Amino acid sequence: MTHPVLAALGLSATESGTYLGNGEWSSTRDAGTLEPVNPANGEVLAQVHAASEADYERIVERAQAAFKVWRTTPAPLRGEAVRLCANALRANKDMLGSLVALEMGKSKPEGDGEVQEMIDIGDFAVGLSRQLYGLTMHSERPGHRMYEQWHPLGLVGIISAFNFPVAVWAWNALIAAACGDISIWKSSGKTPLSAIASIRICNEALRDGGYPDLFFLFNDTDNALAERMVDDKRIGLVSFTGSTKVGRTVGERVARRLGRSLLELGGNNAMIVDETADLKLAIPAIVFGAVGTAGQRCTSTRRAFIHESIYDDVLAKLKAGYAQVETKIGDPTDAANLMGPLNSQSAVDAFLAAIAQAKAAGGTVESGGTAFTDRKGFFVRPAIVTGLSNDAEVVQTETFAPILYVMKYSELDDAIAMQNDVPQGLSSAVFTTNLKRAEAFLSAAGSDCGIANVNIGTSGAEIGGAFGGEKDTGGGRESGSDAWRAYMRRQTNTINYSDALPLAQGIKFDI
Ligand code: NAD
Repeated sequence: MTHPVLAALGLSATESGTYLGNGEWSSTRDAGTLEPVNPANGEVLAQVHAASEADYERIVERAQAAFKVWRTTPAPLRGEAVRLCANALRANKDMLGSLVALEMGKSKPEGDGEVQEMIDIGDFAVGLSRQLYGLTMHSERPGHRMYEQWHPLGLVGIISAFNFPVAVWAWNALIAAACGDISIWKSSGKTPLSAIASIRICNEALRDGGYPDLFFLFNDTDNALAERMVDDKRIGLVSFTGSTKVGRTVGERVARRLGRSLLELGGNNAMIVDETADLKLAIPAIVFGAVGTAGQRCTSTRRAFIHESIYDDVLAKLKAGYAQVETKIGDPTDAANLMGPLNSQSAVDAFLAAIAQAKAAGGTVESGGTAFTDRKGFFVRPAIVTGLSNDAEVVQTETFAPILYVMKYSELDDAIAMQNDVPQGLSSAVFTTNLKRAEAFLSAAGSDCGIANVNIGTSGAEIGGAFGGEKDTGGGRESGSDAWRAYMRRQTNTINYSDALPLAQGIKFDI
């Protein structure tokens, strides 16, 4: 029987995961099948047919044809198309949020929040469509004018992770659409239904408004077609969100063909709590940061450095907070629960393996650290681990699960150095009421992350700012600020309105 949330979105128990454009979904039935699972009970939600090579080729050809039209459509009109998508997402927020919760396993408020991010980035892109500014420069040559302009780039390939099954697509696709690009999405094989629903909602809104298809979708079972897209010279930008391990190979492959990649990879985010911190803020920030989305956010808090003078107090308060959370772990679609399951059995296995590794390295599990064996689904008790140093291998690794390593420090410089001393560089925070320390943390000698916060946690982001991180996080920036530039090509123009042809740098060339 089709799950009621799927039915409400017009999805059935058997779907194609491949949108070919012109309102057509692929009829391929022999390229493999994905079976997305409800992580709260382990049951298969639907059968999703994967794409064939021929499907992929047809998508790229249609996307190329669509680009020829879209690139010369005035940018504010492109914004109008994005506005229709954002409005359609508004109208479907409740149901799409429920589907995200059902298929990914995050709580219903977080599922709704993810759809809200899609709406917000849509609104942002509408405004952006009138603000794709270039600079003007003063030419060194008399009677000349110089300026730069930003043109649409072409086709944008989007490969996304399971933990943000819809927002990451919208961050890319809606900005790309306003920039004049056509996007092709390879969604996570764990969350294909959320992708199908999002594409339907947006492309139907476009069709109703008389706009062409701007968003294509395919799925595959073994990433062979994803790799084909990575290697495809017709794809101007590959925007990849996922693990550092896969992202590194994607970046290398795209670089080999001198294409552009935008990499949003793993994090190992830390919070520093000094002795002046307001613990009414710091404690909930750490607990939400570490257990929200069951520790499956790229910005989840994985390490906490606590000043030695307040360490015992903070640890006791954290344990009390975790005890409360443990009573509210359950079905993510029930709004009363604070934490849902992990997304898969392999995630539970990775969680338990990391706990075992932490213990073997001399760590103490202060709270949680076990899986629920009395219920279906992939539920675990979030863990607090103490007694390990920052350079322990397990602490240096992003285990995509709710494990918080709590460590002591005495000098802020040491805490900042430890925070930075991991391969990743995504999100960071300090809790302090001391202005000098806050500024030191944000200074050039402070946090080395793409995101650095004061008195708010590491987890989550607002779409207005550029999102992304350094080092093994990949260096990409998406969402707000000037991240749109990644989706366009810059052209520098010089216009001579004089009667002479002076060469630059005063060079003479007499003929
Ligand atoms: P993953 O790397 O396993 O998969 C990500 C995507 O890559 C999926 O769509 C997958 O099918 C695809 N893929 C796998 N092998 C591929 C290949 N050889 N070529 C091309 N594509 C391939 O990651 P995941 O488990 O889905 O997501 C969790 C990871 O994503 C975590 O490390 C998390 O930190 C990271 N993440 C980062 C951000 C960010 O913005 N920095 C956001 C969300 C998630």
